Amino acid sequence: MTGPDARGRCVANRLPAASRRHTTGVTIDTPVNLREVGRLRVLEALHAAPRISRPELVRVTGLSRATVSSLVADLITVGLVTEEAHREGAEVPAARRTGRPAQTLSLVPSAGYAIGADIGHQHVRVILSDLFGTVLWEHWVAKDVDRAPGETLDLVAVLVGRALQEAGVDRERVLGIGAGIASPVEKGSGELGAEGIMPGWVGLHLTDELRGRTGLPVRVTNDANAGALAELMYGAGRQVDDMVYIRLSAGIGAGIVSNGRLLLGARGLAGEIGHLPLVTDGLICRCGNRGCLETVASPVAIARLLSQSWGRQIAARDLLALIKQRNTGALRAVRDAGDAVGRALAALVTLLNPRLVVVGGDLAAAGEDLLEPLRAGIGRHTLPSAARGIEIVTGGLGAGAEVRGAAGLVLSAAPQLLA
Ligand SMILES: [Zn+2]
Repeated sequence: MTGPDARGRCVANRLPAASRRHTTGVTIDTPVNLREVGRLRVLEALHAAPRISRPELVRVTGLSRATVSSLVADLITVGLVTEEAHREGAEVPAARRTGRPAQTLSLVPSAGYAIGADIGHQHVRVILSDLFGTVLWEHWVAKDVDRAPGETLDLVAVLVGRALQEAGVDRERVLGIGAGIASPVEKGSGELGAEGIMPGWVGLHLTDELRGRTGLPVRVTNDANAGALAELMYGAGRQVDDMVYIRLSAGIGAGIVSNGRLLLGARGLAGEIGHLPLVTDGLICRCGNRGCLETVASPVAIARLLSQSWGRQIAARDLLALIKQRNTGALRAVRDAGDAVGRALAALVTLLNPRLVVVGGDLAAAGEDLLEPLRAGIGRHTLPSAARGIEIVTGGLGAGAEVRGAAGLVLSAAPQLLA
């Protein structure tokens, strides 16, 4: 979306939603207000660059100097933008290398806040972050989520209230809640495709449920997409346009970034790699199919294999401790899981040709014991030219990836929400 036409359409399409929230008397039928278009362009430019000079802002927005000056004055008056002397390390425009110090403009971090909520199979995590994604408040609760949607959603609402109270943030300043959930989420309707995945949540509209409980606008995606977004915004994928993020937790899913954008598919269900068939005549998966990746490579599946092999109960949470102790049986089981994940990823690598694969979720803590067979699995089942140069790493954000990406859903739309 770099051509002027594409950009112009994009801006015009976004205007009505932004107008509804922050101005009076502007409705979806009002002709495009050029000043509002300009304000949005300035906010988008400030959102894209942490600090920017006025001449640069004129160049990036394509607006006149006078218009930029007037819009910036308004934004400073309402507390969205601040201007300060040039900081060490930032590039100084050539025209400013002599004379008085250059000034740079930036968004005010406290101009808006986002809530992130990560709803897994066995936990709820909520954060409050400022406009720059800095986490100001965080809380994690163990919870048996799959069959208790009402209780879980009530818990999220309580945590949202606590976050605002304890961080001293006014609800009016919150741009919205981003929620990532361990279930497929239908694009558009936001309905959960939770059949077999989260039995109590089938057909629920998470957006409506959370908005009803908190009074805040809500955006929803599945947890693997949230993790991918977080790695793209804050982690290993910051400079990367083509990436696959795979989450290896109680569920297995992938978030796919292609050409800098999350690839969602026609109904938002792309990336369900956990349900690729891996084993002929394997175990029946909770999705109803047979031999899915999730039945052999999730921490639960590995723990089940060890339990059967050793004749005593091993819980998924014990697995990392066993690996740390260099238990040979646990290591073998994790390496076999890595090989299975590598074979499944080989299909994605062949189809999508990513530059980076980021491994997240609980099992990522196994590190090289997991990554080495995973890399080998990709290498063995992919065209040599597609496998060459691909980087395969564990995520940089650990267990906090999904919740930060969930908040990132809101923050990535901050210019439209603030305009
Ligand atoms: Zn399955």
